[in-house]
Amino acid sequence: MSTSAFVLPVSLALRLLTSAAPAPQSPAAAPNPPQVPRVPATAPVKTPAVAASNKGLSAAQQATAGRLVGPALTEGHAYARLAELTDGVGPRLSGSESAEAAVQWALRSFQADGVKAWKEAVKVPHWVRGEEHGEILPSERTRGLPLSLLALGGSAPTPPEGLTAEVVEVGSLEELAALGDKARGKIVFFNHSMSEAADYGRFAGLRGRGPAAAAKQGAVAALVRSLATASLRTPHTGATRFDDNGPRLPAAAVSVEDALTLHRMLQGGAVKVRLVLGCSELPEADSSNVVAEVRGREKPDEVVLLGAHLDSWDVGTGAHDDGAGVVMVMEAARLIAKLPQAPRRTVRVVLFMNEENGLRGGRAYAQAHAKELPKHVAAVEMDSGGGRPLGVSLHAGPGGEDLLRPWLQPLEGLGAATFLEGHATGADLSPMEPAHVPFVGVRVDSSRYFDVHHSMADTLDKVDPRDLSRSTAAVTWMAYALAEAPGLLVRPTAPESDGPPPPKK
Ligand SMILES: [Zn+2]
Repeated sequence: MSTSAFVLPVSLALRLLTSAAPAPQSPAAAPNPPQVPRVPATAPVKTPAVAASNKGLSAAQQATAGRLVGPALTEGHAYARLAELTDGVGPRLSGSESAEAAVQWALRSFQADGVKAWKEAVKVPHWVRGEEHGEILPSERTRGLPLSLLALGGSAPTPPEGLTAEVVEVGSLEELAALGDKARGKIVFFNHSMSEAADYGRFAGLRGRGPAAAAKQGAVAALVRSLATASLRTPHTGATRFDDNGPRLPAAAVSVEDALTLHRMLQGGAVKVRLVLGCSELPEADSSNVVAEVRGREKPDEVVLLGAHLDSWDVGTGAHDDGAGVVMVMEAARLIAKLPQAPRRTVRVVLFMNEENGLRGGRAYAQAHAKELPKHVAAVEMDSGGGRPLGVSLHAGPGGEDLLRPWLQPLEGLGAATFLEGHATGADLSPMEPAHVPFVGVRVDSSRYFDVHHSMADTLDKVDPRDLSRSTAAVTWMAYALAEAPGLLVRPTAPESDGPPPPKK
């Protein structure tokens, strides 16, 4: 299409958006709100500030904002892409055939968008789920109860006939350590009280490191209460890590309801559980990050990186985690590539492989591009689901807010023209921290993200098309702004105190 095609002003696009949601483009898209309790049907749509002030941006920049924000809000392109990735490609755990299919899908899609893309090699772990079930064994207090569980990624298998042992409950790694020898021969059950999204960081260590610690104390298996903010007895999986040469054990997430049952039953005396986990660790597989870019017109060697991860867990279809992030950053590249004039700097999209159970993609990118990282002037990772945008956060040296404030104006109608507390982060970006790459967060509402995160329920119907289009618009504009603003973010000091000083610009 010609670049002089009709461009919808931001204000009009926003009015259209609030009067009618963009029709989902895929027949697979559910027209109705999700049926799961506590997932909101649609986030409340605020009346946008239509007549945003002109201060800060030139008329040409305002027009560019219209060319980016308008189509992001009204075309439904990102949502249609999300349907292809979730319903079409499906779950895409690292090393699987469908993860490779996702790589091919991304390359084809970038090509269709007229965005130059290529793959970069990444070796990934290849863990696969097998037959799995478990039950609380009958006793004088119960006729026995099946457990709703999912093996954790990285779990060892049980013997084929399963294993049976007494359960011991702990609420923290410290409580586990205090058990000492009493964990020997037992199934250690990690319980916690996650109730809102903000609790995730507090308790994720129980899943990530608890099973390895239990193995070192002689436990025979581990059960972890799902890290979730809603449950209809749905278990939520995730990665657990064992030391390379340390002992391993079978480890599974149980649903919140089953964790509560175990807890109640343990109040009354001993509880025995039988577990069968048939998972296995196959040889590492060849896989890829997908990298795409729109080259800058003035300073092509200066890179604004937009990241998301292409892999997902093997249950559900990774719609919020992280299909939503993937389609947002792909759409940003598509819309920026359609502009009559490329921004000053290069916008590079990286679809990382293996965020979920290894971070190999993030590490491989930082290693392969080590020489370029001093010229990575900003990096954004979208990996908190497809909720509506809330605002912008930074991890940069002083003056970042002043530099970017004028550029927030097109986000006013999206309800996101504000700086938020807290550092911008991103798992896949973390290997770039020692190179002092400034991080920018386009924060989305993730209050309901952990209702479905890493579970069978992370499917397309949980993503609200309007919320997705708004966050897509926000990240597209911020990518452009970072690539076009005359000044650069000051590079942050690295976590290491003895790191080199930030380069002067
Ligand atoms: Zn994720």
